[in-house]
Amino acid sequence: MANGGGAILANDVLSTRLTDHITDDPTTEAVAKLVRAVIATKGTLRMDYRCDAPHELRRMRLTIKPMKDDRAIMVHELRDAVQLRPEMGLWSFDPAARNLKCSICGKVHLPDGPWFDPAQRGNRHPEFVSYTVCPTCVGHIETAITGIIEGALDVGVGDLNLKPGLRND
Ligand SMILES: [Zn+2]
Repeated sequence: MANGGGAILANDVLSTRLTDHITDDPTTEAVAKLVRAVIATKGTLRMDYRCDAPHELRRMRLTIKPMKDDRAIMVHELRDAVQLRPEMGLWSFDPAARNLKCSICGKVHLPDGPWFDPAQRGNRHPEFVSYTVCPTCVGHIETAITGIIEGALDVGVGDLNLKPGLRND
């Protein structure tokens, strides 16, 4: 595959907003990398991610499968939903916010603080966040891409369960 083909396809996929929660460059680039790896290897990647609401923890799965002609299909499934009592509190996206939220694992990071899960009891969700990909998820994505390029059949990566799937060829 020519590199240009993968880049064009990734752009096409992203421009259709199949991943309609993506608002930031780090997440766009991470998904584009996964799509390029699927197209290059004809393998399948699965990435579990969180798409929470203030009242509900939602575990989602993104499956990226190769298609003919250097294309890929992205399928999002809701795997699990847990009602949160008490609720996390409302938050808003603000690209200028210094509080960060990982668009994959849902953890948040206040300036100079650790990454933590705002859905865990006792934690508060910051009111304004800008989205990014946290260092742990960046590492999981790199590991999965390395795995699929090396032909791994099934590699579980952390609690995100980001794993290369069976090759189709
Ligand atoms: Zn993360």
